[in-house]
Formats: sequence, structure tokens, C-alpha cells
Amino acid sequence: MAQYSDTICQQPETLARPDLATLMPYQSARRIAQQAGIVGEVWLNANESAVYDSMTLTTDAFNRYPEPQPEGVVQGYATYAGVTPEQVLVTRGGDEGIELLIRTFCRPGVDCIAQFAPTYGMYSVSAQTNGVGVINIITDPSLGWIPDPEAAAQILNDRPEVQILFTCSPGNPTGNLIPLSVLQALAEVTIGRCLLVIDEAYIDFSPESTAKGLLAQYPHVVLIRTLSKAFALAGLRCGFVLANPKVITMLKKVIAPYPIPVPVSNLAEQALSDAGVQRMRDRASNCIQARSELIEGLKSIPGIDAVYPTDANFILVRLTKASQLFDALRQRGIVLRDQSKQPTLENCIRITVGTPDENRRLLQAMTEIFQELT
Ligand SMILES: *Cc1c(COP(=O)(O)O)cnc(C)c1O
Repeated sequence: MAQYSDTICQQPETLARPDLATLMPYQSARRIAQQAGIVGEVWLNANESAVYDSMTLTTDAFNRYPEPQPEGVVQGYATYAGVTPEQVLVTRGGDEGIELLIRTFCRPGVDCIAQFAPTYGMYSVSAQTNGVGVINIITDPSLGWIPDPEAAAQILNDRPEVQILFTCSPGNPTGNLIPLSVLQALAEVTIGRCLLVIDEAYIDFSPESTAKGLLAQYPHVVLIRTLSKAFALAGLRCGFVLANPKVITMLKKVIAPYPIPVPVSNLAEQALSDAGVQRMRDRASNCIQARSELIEGLKSIPGIDAVYPTDANFILVRLTKASQLFDALRQRGIVLRDQSKQPTLENCIRITVGTPDENRRLLQAMTEIFQELT
């Protein structure tokens, strides 16, 4: 086996961009679990779907490069979302859409993004890896973490370098929908000033609340969507940007030439067929049913101080003994997501809704652990 050569450079990492030296990589649920050596049986930490429909590839030819933007997938998603194909960009997961927006609209070392915290971690990781600054606008838990358009207007006024304002509805990790009136107010204060990105990764669990209607009126509004959550295809890596065709055209200048592998577009197209969408809706409504049962169960456990309202496939809870509970559950093979390091989320844990059986196991284990802890 060849040996690494140390003669040219003793410490090759010192050749990397200095601003990356202190960067914390995105703490994905997988990475955290792997580093901690967690052997789980019940994975309720990544907002994945607990159930899925088995799928089969309908092509076996992979010798050609894929279509840059697979037409069947673009068309399928446009139909599902109720937009035109010109308003759709297919990406390698919603995460690639986030990254592309930052790379296309923010100059490294000059521009910034702003986000309402607590929120999804990838906006700031993507910004930082591209040399773009991050401004947090902290939201108020007593107001359900709903963004304050006036606070946003103030930041946009004070900080001309902000090029994108990120918001997430339903919010991750908070779970709450942002009222359409608030999203519209955000669209108003960002007119002529910056992009407003509304991340709708979980909107398939409450499709009537989509902000899609804003696209026609506000050309600077952009939606992020994904097949990773309600469509139960996190392993596929397929997401979408929905925006004004002029924004889509800009993003196409920056995206890699062949971002969507043939197997991905083949399966995504099937998932977006009428039958595929119907299966997704059935799964989502089962998930919502299981969610109400889980919420009832959690509310009846004395050690839990707050169970926050949710419109997604996960539930945020707050409890004094969060870290003990988290560790004790982990030892029993039940893995949740600790959110306590996010602003305003001290002692908060995020729980993905599992199968009814997994949810019962969780509640049973929680009850036993609290009896031991008191
Ligand atoms: C899961 C998620 C995404 C995108 O995930 P992909 O798997 O990259 O499609 C985007 N935003 C939020 C808030 C999410 O939770």
C-alpha cells in the first residue's frame, strides 16, 4: 500500500482557507450518532419518515450523462406544487438549493445572510463555507418563535450587506407554521432589498399553508422544498427551489452540470406520479394521527414542562432534566435530537414522530426513566 508523503507539506490542512480552521461542520443527526458510537434501534432524531414504500428502478442504462434538469421530475414537481416548470429547479436535496442561493446571491467576504434563530443549521454552515457572514435575528418563544417583520426591516436598514433573509415554515426545530400574513409582511419589507427564502421542507404535512401564492406577487420570494420528509426519500437526495424564472435562470449558471443522477430522477419521477403523491398523502395523514397520539402521551408525562405546537413530523419539548432523559433514552437505543444549544432552546429536545410502535416504546421508556430520576 502506498504511504502518504509528508515531504512536501508536513501539515496539509494548514494550506486550507484560514477561515475554515474554526468552522464547525453541520452536526447532522448521523454524524452526531456516529461520533458518539450510538447503537440505536429507534431513530427519532433526523425527521426522516419511519415508513416507506419500496420502489424499483425502471431503467438499467447508466452509460450516458443525465439530463441537467430531468424533465419528468421538473414537470412532476411543478404539477404537484401548482407552479410552472420555469419556476422549478431540481437540486441534490433542499440543502443544495440553500447553498446555490448563497453562492449565487452573496459575495464571499462581503455579503451576509440573515436568519431567524433558532432555526435549521444549514443556512449558516452554507454561508460560512462560502465566506458569507450570518446575522441572527432571535425570535421570541412566548410568541411561538414567529418572526418579527419590523425587527427584520431594522436589520435590513442597518446592515446593507444582507442579501438573503432565510425563514422556515413549518420551523425546524420549533415545528410551528408562520402565519401567511407574517410571511407576506416579510415579503413586503424585503422588496427591492434582498431575497426572502421560505424553507418549506415540511409543508407537505400542512399543504394548505404554503406560501406559494407569494411567488406570483413577489419575484424576490424563493421557496425550498424536498422529497426527504413527507415523501420518505431522504436517502434519494432530491429537492427543489421554486422561484421566479429569472431567479431560476441565475441559479442554473452556478449549479453543477449534471447534479441529478439517473437513478435519482428515475425514482423521483415515480414518487411524483399521481399514485406516488397519493401514497405520500396517506403516509402524511398517518403520521399526523400518530403525532396527535404522541403529543397526548407526552403531555401526560409529569417530567415534561412544555410540548410545543407542531405542523411537521416532529415535536419540540422542554424539560428540566433534558440531558439526563436524552442520555438514558440513548442507552435504551432510542435516539432523539438535543436542541439545547440553540438560542432560546435551553433544555429542549426534538422528537421525530415514529411508527405507532416506536412512539409507544418512547413513551414507556420516558415514563420509566422519570420514575428512576425522581
Ligand atoms: C430536511 C430539511 C431540509 C432539506 O433536506 P434535504 O434532505 O437536503 O432535502 C431543508 N430545510 C429544513 C428545515 C430541513 O429540515
